[in-house]
Amino acid sequence: MAILGRQGSGKGTQSLRIAESYGCVHVSTGDMLRAAVAAGTDLGRQASEVMEAGGLVGDDIMNGIVAERLAEPDIEAAGVLLDGFPRTSDQADALQQILADLGHRLTIAINIDVPVQEVTQRMMARGRSDDTEEAISRRLALYEEQTAPLRDWFSERGLLVTVDGLGAESQVFDRVSAAIDDRLQ
Ligand code: AMP
Repeated sequence: MAILGRQGSGKGTQSLRIAESYGCVHVSTGDMLRAAVAAGTDLGRQASEVMEAGGLVGDDIMNGIVAERLAEPDIEAAGVLLDGFPRTSDQADALQQILADLGHRLTIAINIDVPVQEVTQRMMARGRSDDTEEAISRRLALYEEQTAPLRDWFSERGLLVTVDGLGAESQVFDRVSAAIDDRLQ
């Protein structure tokens, strides 16, 4: 499974609930990169500048990290929820190949849909210093630019399910799990 959603869409929270409820491993490439930066590894050193500038770490690096992680035995046993990967259509192509090599395939891409106006309000309400209206709108525009082709990629393959992300966390989770159950039947 893969999950998509704007910043402020509640994607992180829903990911944790999905992993808990379906017993799969939650793999967040953002978390992996932040851990590498904190640990000062080679990868962390390569990634930190790009991440600070809000850019994307190169596909070769990302595909390598994900291929390695997905080959680990916990995922073989439990399955995986990918969060933050793929980010580009090239990464999606690579993922398909990585999964095929492991004898797996993608089952569903869940798109948590919360309108731009609502996520902007949610992020403003957090009051973080980097959450000025201008910075938020820049990040959201970048997300749109990067993710629109990816939504098409999943959609063309019949994998995309868009879930209304408005409402209480548990309401949204009910919609998400209904979509997954429908697909896994
Ligand atoms: P996230 O927590 O998913 O928002 O990721 C934080 C940052 O890590 C992003 O702004 C990117 O710089 C980098 N990153 C995470 N996942 C990817 C990916 N699949 N491809 C490229 N860069 C990524």
